[in-house]
Amino acid sequence: MAAYKMYIGGEWTGGDGYFETINPATEKPIAKFPSGTARHVDMAVDAAKAALPKWSMMPPPKRGLILLRIAEILKAEKERLGRLVSTEMGKVLPEALGDVQEAIDTFEYFAGEGRRLYGSTTTSELKDKFCLTFRQPVGVVGLITPWNFPTAIPAWKLAPALICGNTAVFKPSSDTPLCAYEMVKALVKAGVPPGVVNFVTGPAASVGEAIVRHPGIEGISFTGSKATGEWIIRNAGLKKVGLELGGKNPIIVMDDAKLDLAVDGILWGAFGTTGQRCTATSRVIAHRKIKPRLLSALITRARMLRLGPGTEKTSDVGPLINRAAQEKTAKYVGIGIGEGAKLLCGGMKPAGKGYYFKPTIFDGVSPDMRIAREEIFGPVLSVLEFEKLDDAIDIANSVEYGLSSSIYTNDVNNAFRAIGRIEAGITYVNSSTIGAEVHLPFGGVKGTGHTREAGILGLDEFSNTKTVYIDYSGKLQKAQIDVD
Ligand code: NDP
Repeated sequence: MAAYKMYIGGEWTGGDGYFETINPATEKPIAKFPSGTARHVDMAVDAAKAALPKWSMMPPPKRGLILLRIAEILKAEKERLGRLVSTEMGKVLPEALGDVQEAIDTFEYFAGEGRRLYGSTTTSELKDKFCLTFRQPVGVVGLITPWNFPTAIPAWKLAPALICGNTAVFKPSSDTPLCAYEMVKALVKAGVPPGVVNFVTGPAASVGEAIVRHPGIEGISFTGSKATGEWIIRNAGLKKVGLELGGKNPIIVMDDAKLDLAVDGILWGAFGTTGQRCTATSRVIAHRKIKPRLLSALITRARMLRLGPGTEKTSDVGPLINRAAQEKTAKYVGIGIGEGAKLLCGGMKPAGKGYYFKPTIFDGVSPDMRIAREEIFGPVLSVLEFEKLDDAIDIANSVEYGLSSSIYTNDVNNAFRAIGRIEAGITYVNSSTIGAEVHLPFGGVKGTGHTREAGILGLDEFSNTKTVYIDYSGKLQKAQIDVD
């Protein structure tokens, strides 16, 4: 089995022992990665600090050209990298290729930002005075990523961090270090200078926590569980922290909706990526009149989904990421049954190897049940019922998360009421809860965290605004005091 290295200060380096990354379809190890420690984080921060002055002074359009080269390298390798995403993370190949495409799009998008990085100019309340703002890098940033988008999420953080002139310590999920390694290799090949991005693999308890607590790191960008996000907030001190912490995303289906379209969107949202997206559809809030027809179509179609390795063309749904995820999903099925919800299909892992779980649908779910409130991150869909749109929206808003949401309706009044009232960072109309595009802001409200990634707003996480007042009056002028 191949043993890989970390990348610190431009050198490929080992750690204190190794851990293995596993193919979730076979349960077999595929590669070994170094177990980094707090010492390696120290080395990485030193290297990132040393590289910061030169990198941050490089004209942003030049940094943009490097980002564009990264996009080109990923594009040339898309098929191989997609297969790797399927093998290491488990998602089916079309989705895995989408994961890589999202990384390509992200680097292309932020490459262009090198020629914008807009600040603002504005008026002054005083004569002969000019006011403007511009962006400066945060400094050394810690990037901590999950496994569910093992290529796209690192790109969502690396691309804006680099174009803004930061240097970085990058810790990937211990479930998908190989996809992250390939990303770092592309960065090196594209000409990202030594020390600008430092790649430290290893457990959360040593590498992750050392990054969060490190006094030499000015900013943390994290995607993962709410529990970890809350720990980061408590332990990061005064660092600039960006958090994206998941959801409990609803689809409201009105009685005037096109039902076939809703069924397609619900299945894609609930069982795509085996339910392991922060934007996965985990609740359907269905109008009482159409619920029986909707359920019947959903059950028929869910039973037809074929489980199998992500790399095989015949697979519709790949395995979950690891055994803990499989056990967590089974535990929630037990909780749902215990709470009195009605299990309509799935509810168990199939026989044989691999961390698979059958697409599962519960009916008779009420908003107070745990399966209607807690993030399961597996292929489990809870169906709830309503009669009036306002009640459906109240149910949608009754959870602690607020990331994505959707309404299926052919009535423009319903659509706009839902857009205005649903507490979520993203609302789709007549489309599933998943499908973010990289030039639009992505993020949530409430327990999801309030950070926006991607799009122009994605620059805010990785830059500080400098405000400049230029007084060319030749005399002391006092704001708020010289009022005449
Ligand atoms: P975690 O939040 O535990 O891990 C995500 C990343 O954070 C990994 O790189 C992990 O490292 C690291 N990490 C964990 N704890 C710390 C810490 N104290 N300090 C610094 N870094 C830390 O998520 P899991 O992968 O364990 O998944 C558990 C649940 O989280 C899922 O079932 C799902 O509910 C949610 N989740 C949400 C995601 C989203 O997209 N919002 C993505 C992934 C998970 P390591 O891998 O080494 O443990």
